[in-house]
Amino acid sequence: MKTEVTESRGVVETPELIQSGKKEVTFALIGNPNSGKTSLFNALTGAHQHVGNWGGVTVELKEGKAVLGNTICRIVDLPGTYSLSAYSIEEKVARDYLLNEKPDVVINVVDATNLERNLYLTVQLFELGICPVLACNMWDEVQDKGIRIDVELLSRLLDIPIVTTVGKTGKNVQKLLTAGVELARSSTVYRKHSGDLPREIQSAVEALAQDQVLSSLEGPPDWAALKLLENDRDVTGMVKERGGETVLQRVRDAQETILSTLGEDAESLIAEARYGFVAGALRETLKKPVRNRIEISDQIDRVLTHQAWAFPVFFFFMWALFQATFVLGEIPKQLIEKMVELTSHLVVMSMPESMIRSLIVEGIIGGVGGVVIFLPNILILFLGIAIMEDTGYMARAAFITDRIMHKVGLHGKSFIPMLMGMGCNVPAIMAARTLESESDRRKTILLSPLISCSARLPVYVLIAGALFPRHAGNVIFMFQFIFGTLAFFIMAWIFRKTLFRGEDHPFVMELPPYRLPTFRSVLIHMWQRAEHFLKKMGGVVLVFSVIIWALSKFPHDHSLEEAYMGQITAVENSSTLNPEEKNEQINRMKSEMKTELVKKTSIGRIGTFIAPVFKPMGFEWREAVALLTGFVAKEVVVSTMGVLYQSDENGIVDNERLHSEIARTFSPLKGIAFMFFVLLYVPCIVALVTVIKELRSVKWSIFSVVYQLVLAWVVAAAVFQGGRLLGFQ
Ligand code: GDP
Ligand code: MG
Repeated sequence: MKTEVTESRGVVETPELIQSGKKEVTFALIGNPNSGKTSLFNALTGAHQHVGNWGGVTVELKEGKAVLGNTICRIVDLPGTYSLSAYSIEEKVARDYLLNEKPDVVINVVDATNLERNLYLTVQLFELGICPVLACNMWDEVQDKGIRIDVELLSRLLDIPIVTTVGKTGKNVQKLLTAGVELARSSTVYRKHSGDLPREIQSAVEALAQDQVLSSLEGPPDWAALKLLENDRDVTGMVKERGGETVLQRVRDAQETILSTLGEDAESLIAEARYGFVAGALRETLKKPVRNRIEISDQIDRVLTHQAWAFPVFFFFMWALFQATFVLGEIPKQLIEKMVELTSHLVVMSMPESMIRSLIVEGIIGGVGGVVIFLPNILILFLGIAIMEDTGYMARAAFITDRIMHKVGLHGKSFIPMLMGMGCNVPAIMAARTLESESDRRKTILLSPLISCSARLPVYVLIAGALFPRHAGNVIFMFQFIFGTLAFFIMAWIFRKTLFRGEDHPFVMELPPYRLPTFRSVLIHMWQRAEHFLKKMGGVVLVFSVIIWALSKFPHDHSLEEAYMGQITAVENSSTLNPEEKNEQINRMKSEMKTELVKKTSIGRIGTFIAPVFKPMGFEWREAVALLTGFVAKEVVVSTMGVLYQSDENGIVDNERLHSEIARTFSPLKGIAFMFFVLLYVPCIVALVTVIKELRSVKWSIFSVVYQLVLAWVVAAAVFQGGRLLGFQ
């Protein structure tokens, strides 16, 4: 099991009770998805784990520390889970942790606005013999909605400590910690509660629990007995391993007796008993106002998940988002452009001409600066994703696409990683872990890279901005959203027909209530992703810009330069041309010289060598080089183009020049083919490594790379050749 240790900021409070006993107390946070575990975890430990309003954010165990007096609290954030039945990976991870690691304190985080459902898990903790501290989270919403909960009475009824908390603000987390440590220290013997099981089941449990095989398992024997009656796959498997065939036979007999005497199977009866217990506990302690959040959410959902409206509305949202990335991004982008330009001018003015100056101006500022200018566009995209996530709309998007996803052999649950993939493919690929079946997982890993990630956005903004300035927003929407999604669905469909035939796995799609996202949480989410982008600028983009720069400087063809210079001097001295004509000719020759000189350098030779591969889509050596370097990261495509295309004699970054150079060398059709290629081939080294790690198979990893390259090549060539046949340029 992978655990990630986060540094502590520490929550400090020193009541007397902490003076004695064990120095380290282990806490485990468990609760339904969206109950606010990660928020509480962050508030407790000072960590910044990702928080999102949809199920399945936390796949791995996150670990952090908090300090209370002289006690160190080790805190683990378990994956969100509705039950402890080990049906899904999350449930299994959470359950195994409780059984094997035996944390000192279990904190059961519940969404207090929805206790009816959240306490179902609490009852199952009771069954496991665990006395949790109940964190009644979302207490701010409880108050806003006018829900009344008699916390004291509930605490007495359930016989567990309860602390009301607000995960978002960290309210009462110290109390929670204190309650946990107190509980760990207390000597009171835990009194077992559970739902009032029907007598037949209760006696079957008691009888089975006597068996030796059951007492040799982790966890209380009567819990194991209950699980066996529920047909729990894991526990049944373990009993089988230990040769408990006779117990299993007795379980089957008991199940039959129960079915014939009570008219219902044991599994449903046990579930019913749990719900009954919860309903009973809440009867006197919970008063809800007539209209609550769930109902308001239902009202909104009437429109947003409406059979006819849902899709148009969803598409409109996405279209608006990508228009915004271009239109709203343009002004700050120009501002950054000016700043980058100014910096290069300053360097040029303050340094004599030299290799070092060229490295700084052309390599570093030209390369990195050429990509940094897209930060505003990327921030807007991330803002959009963060809002969709935090409001709960993301889960709706998954819900409404569920039916289409089924048609291609996936389900709605894969759609959220897909949307997240528009930020970055890497977490999207990793999120495939939450899928239960191996073939779903593999398929999702293979498909995720097709979704256009934010690193590809700068390429579209650049090319579309240069070639289709009036429709750039629409072009970006098409590439960033429509084409990537289409590729995803078409390939999913092809995979289903060829490689992954097989069954569907139905599941319940959880719709969390809509929430107004806080300004702060949206900003934090946006920033977390932007930080990643900026780190790339200082890292791989910088390194590769310098490499590309060096490769584009050496070897230098002096004789070619001299020949050009000779011609230029001849024009200068010519008496037949007027000054304007002279200037124009000289400028043209200078830029031609620059291009021809680069063509003779290492990068030019590499480009010329691989260019024939790209002939069918009309790409020449510079595009070939840009695509080659794009393997590293898609931002590098832009920085490479920056280094190779824009060039005044000082090598200063000048976006107008870059735009006009692109407009000069790219026909619209070639530009579109280029964007298709960028969309479809391997996203970047990190994504590639992640795919390999997650697929855990050499064969599938090779397949993944090959199919993406072939797909990119075929589509780009088909677009280019097809377009030409139809008479486009
Ligand atoms: P997890 O799935 O249990 O880890 O839940 P998260 O910590 O990811 O939180 C889910 C959503 O609920 C996020 O949008 C949080 O900002 C929000 N949230 C968490 N705690 C609270 C709270 O106490 N009050 C309110 N209003 N929102 C909260
Ligand atoms: Mg979480």
